[in-house]
Amino acid sequence: MNQDMHTEEWVECPYCRRVIQAPNEPDVTFSCPDCGRELITYSKEEVNNALTVEVPTEIDKWNWGAFIFGTLWGLFNGVYWPLIFTLVICVLDLLSDFSIFMDIVWIISSIAISIILGINGNKLAWKAKPRNDIAKFLKVQHNWMVAGLVFVFVTTVIWFAIIEDAFHILKGLQSPE
Ligand SMILES: [Zn+2]
Repeated sequence: MNQDMHTEEWVECPYCRRVIQAPNEPDVTFSCPDCGRELITYSKEEVNNALTVEVPTEIDKWNWGAFIFGTLWGLFNGVYWPLIFTLVICVLDLLSDFSIFMDIVWIISSIAISIILGINGNKLAWKAKPRNDIAKFLKVQHNWMVAGLVFVFVTTVIWFAIIEDAFHILKGLQSPE
């Protein structure tokens, strides 16, 4: 061990992205000299990033936009694993020549991704791209929810129209003129 534990190290602040000096020692709390946010140093053996991002408790809640849009929401919020996972499932479905088993796997994994993103979406998005402004973050996620509800409403109306049409066609078939 020839490493001096009390030297400082140049790192990137996860909030303001400025290069700052951090204590070269894990679990030390200090403030970013630039944006003033509280930061905690990490052990370099554990992660590449020398700093952790603390998720504010205000955003730790259900995210309807992430639940409804899933993969698409992830793409716009820096959460890419749902897209990668969905692509893998799609390829497997294709390779299995759309077997019922892979269709079921696809449906179950889609529902699971939606629920995971509904629960953890806010935290994942915050960690992917830390912000200074909690209110602005929540406003953006609120807009995703509004868009999601509009999407669900429009989709439901279209489905009802299709079902109603099908019902009329069936009725027409059943009563010969
Ligand atoms: Zn900073």
